[in-house]
Amino acid sequence: MKEVLYKSTRGNKEPVTASEAILKGLSDDGGLFVPDCIPVLDKTVAQLSRMSYQEVAYEVMKLFLTDFTEEELKACIRNAYDDKFDDEAIAPLTEAGGAYYLELFHGATIAFKDMALSILPHLLTTAAKKNQVKNEIVILTATSGDTGKAALAGFAGVKGTRIIVFYPKNGVSPIQEKQMVTQKGDNTYVVGITGNFDDAQTGVKKLFGDKELAKEMDEAGFQFSSANSINIGRLVPQIVYYVYAYAALFAKGRIAEGEKINVVVPTGNFGNILAAFYAKNMGLPIGKLICASNDNKVLYDFFATGAYDRNREFVLTSSPSMDILISSNLERLIYRIAGNDAVKNKELMDLLAGCGKYEITEEMQAQLEDFYGNYANEEETAAAIKKMYESCGYVIDTHTAVAAAVYGKYKDAVKDDAKTVIASTASPFKFTRSVMNAIDAKYDKMDDFALVDELSKLANVPVPAAIEEIRTAPVIHDRICDKDEMKAVVKNFLQM
Ligand SMILES: *Cc1c(COP(=O)(O)O)cnc(C)c1O
Repeated sequence: MKEVLYKSTRGNKEPVTASEAILKGLSDDGGLFVPDCIPVLDKTVAQLSRMSYQEVAYEVMKLFLTDFTEEELKACIRNAYDDKFDDEAIAPLTEAGGAYYLELFHGATIAFKDMALSILPHLLTTAAKKNQVKNEIVILTATSGDTGKAALAGFAGVKGTRIIVFYPKNGVSPIQEKQMVTQKGDNTYVVGITGNFDDAQTGVKKLFGDKELAKEMDEAGFQFSSANSINIGRLVPQIVYYVYAYAALFAKGRIAEGEKINVVVPTGNFGNILAAFYAKNMGLPIGKLICASNDNKVLYDFFATGAYDRNREFVLTSSPSMDILISSNLERLIYRIAGNDAVKNKELMDLLAGCGKYEITEEMQAQLEDFYGNYANEEETAAAIKKMYESCGYVIDTHTAVAAAVYGKYKDAVKDDAKTVIASTASPFKFTRSVMNAIDAKYDKMDDFALVDELSKLANVPVPAAIEEIRTAPVIHDRICDKDEMKAVVKNFLQM
């Protein structure tokens, strides 16, 4: 098998192995790691269609993570995709309203981040062993809510790791806070800071850059790492479910071998849709990659005009995980359409960092034909939830609803009736209030947990364990600190 190495999108340094790229997260020059070539699937669709999710995961990941042994990779997969997921299929498909919803929310925190964050800790600890790292890995994260909990759930109890999460004390929803402060596991630490998300983020960045702290930690047997969404250890596991979905459609007789399908992805950081693009480049028969945005429609404007411009008002929407103005993973696509030219890519990224804007050439734009971008505003999103519920009894969350609404626009505009998979990125139980209000305004008067029960009745779906647990779970983490105390808090947790 051909070895795949990872290059930075911003420099021409020596490429690194997959395990080194996972350990480092980001390249020293600030670039993202990209595979030096995209491997081609070496199993037929018919073969894949007889495999379990875990087996498909192995077939896809072995092609990218070529310095992991079969035994190592299979152990990572086994430890990640187990009964933490409440559906044996791991990522089941549900047919509704003329499309196939790929449910990526059956993991520990009922959102799609679990698909990658349940395996990342195992990939990281394996990578550490392979590279003779003796230190314990300390994951440091600032969160505005969702990623923190998914990372906590992924790293809790994983030997050789500890995780510290900082969240803005008054900046997350009550349910999000409850999810985090009830987190079990001796290696977990959750701290509220008196400040906003930016304060938490800035504080974490400072700690990552603190050379003195790094030295002290090394002496005590620790080193920091990040569970950030640009880590290829998060990107590669996301390719798996597109391959799995295609094979599942084939197994059910819904598509012929080689028949092209479209994929719709509700997009924020551009990680999930980039994984679908990689799947297409591995040879999976995907037609259009439909990029769905909410009112923060930077990506829609980018696909329409070739100009990426973050200078605009940040809109708070009912799909908060897509409220993003800098889609970090887009850099990997820019690098590629610039002809894998790190110098050209760096120029554009410097413009983005400097004046918040860049424009690609017509030549580059011509290579974006695989993509179609559109967006849905708040009314369209709510209408998509209501319509889906009333026509099929299927309840979708706000992020998935953005995708459903955009798919409707695509079909109207392009008259393409290829079979379509919509990435369903969160359980409706994670955004109960917005979902229920979309169905009927009368629900707004009910309290959060009453709404959960009502949704369960309406959708005819049991309340997921992730929600059920936090009703009664005891608070384990009640530490609050000032943003200037973050370093002391870290040292205290590590008993340094
Ligand atoms: C993170 C997230 C997204 C956006 O995914 P990206 O990979 O950042 O584009 C969409 N929906 C939900 C529910 C998410 O948590």
